[in-house]
Parts: sequence; C-alpha cells; structure tokens
Amino acid sequence: MSDTKALVLFSGGQDSTTCLAWALDRFDEVETIGFDYGQRHRVEMSCREPVREAVRALNPAWAKKLGEDHVVDLSVLGAISESSLTRETEIAMTSSGLPNSFVPGRNIAFLTFAAMVGYRRGARHIVGGMCETDFSGYPDCRHEFVQSMEQTLNIGMAHNFVLHTPLMWIDKADTWALAQSLGGEALVRLIIEDTHTCYHGDRTHRHDWGYGCGTCPSCALRAQGYRKFKEAAAF
Ligand code: ZN
Repeated sequence: MSDTKALVLFSGGQDSTTCLAWALDRFDEVETIGFDYGQRHRVEMSCREPVREAVRALNPAWAKKLGEDHVVDLSVLGAISESSLTRETEIAMTSSGLPNSFVPGRNIAFLTFAAMVGYRRGARHIVGGMCETDFSGYPDCRHEFVQSMEQTLNIGMAHNFVLHTPLMWIDKADTWALAQSLGGEALVRLIIEDTHTCYHGDRTHRHDWGYGCGTCPSCALRAQGYRKFKEAAAF
C-alpha cells in the first residue's frame, strides 16, 4: 500500500476537478474513479476524459502523476432510488427537509467502492469533494459522516485508509480560489470551459463561470461563488 498514492472521486465537475488538482499537488501517483449510476444527463460522465486530458496538458509534472481512470457501473443505484438526479423531475425540497436530488446512501456506496478499488490499486489516500459549508442538505457530505466512514472502512477492511475532503470547510468562492492557488489562471479557465455541474445537463449556455442553465441550484451556487471569487480578487 503506497503512502504517496491517491484515488480521487472524480465526476468531471468543478469540485472534483479542484480535488484532482489538490491531489496532484500533494501525491506522487493519482488515479481517478467515477460512478455511472444512471444520472439523468450523461454530460458529466462525458466531461471526465476531456478534463483529465486538459489537466495533463496544463502541467507536465501533473501529467506524469496522473494514472488510470476507473469507471464503476452503479446503475443499480438509479434502479432502486427515487431521486431527481436519476428521474425526470424538478429539483425541489421534500417533506423530509432534504432536496429530492438526494440519493440515499450514495456517498456510502461511492466511498465503499472507492476503497475497494483503492485497496486493489494500493492507494492509501482517497480524496472526495464532500463539503459541509455550501448548504446542500445532504447528510452524507458532512465531516462527521466522512470520519465515521473512514473508521468503518478501516475496521471492515483491516486497513489504514485516509479520507481527504479538501473542500469540507470552504465555500464555492474559496473553491475557485483554491483552484487558482493550485493551477493558476489556467486551471480556473479549464474549470470554466471543461467541467460541468448543471443539474439539467445544459452545455449550450455559456456564462463567465462556465456552461449551464444558469437557474438550477447547482448553477446558482457556482455562479454566486464565481462572482464572490472575482470580487475578492478585485481588491
Ligand atoms: Zn443548471
């Protein structure tokens, strides 16, 4: 098991691309893992490889470190969950106080499969974009959950994985700022042009913060964060 090898949960979105850069900055070998779970829109999955290519092109040192990509078929998640991420319904709050985009158990499944692949690939470090700061209402994005999951995986696999969540305590503006500190303006541009976060899979409308419908909660968060990031940079 290599202490200098990391596996990054990578969806092709802004957060996981920033996490990928964070890992490439810190570890000698970095692999990526993505989950195909019947997302409504295939856009995110199709952004993954172009983003990996662009990250390679950005920095020769990173190009050397960036290794294999693993795609795990979790279509069973789409088959058993009633979520607006996998069904054609509008994003809304439910009576449980959670958005209907919540897929119960998703990050439990993702981290479990990541650990299974990490175990096989000899990667001790697992990096994910879970974040408690920007309110999403997802209980499986909380620090408490990640800590508990790390413990569970290590007990259940008799192992010593370390789960890293570099975005846990920062907001979207600081996620943009983190990308800039890791890869300069070039990485910020790459995130704008190549990554995807819109819930509606819209790649036709281009804004200063990237592509998306501009109105869904995910676009709103990304746009607001970018505005705040630019305002802070102007001072
Ligand atoms: Zn959108």
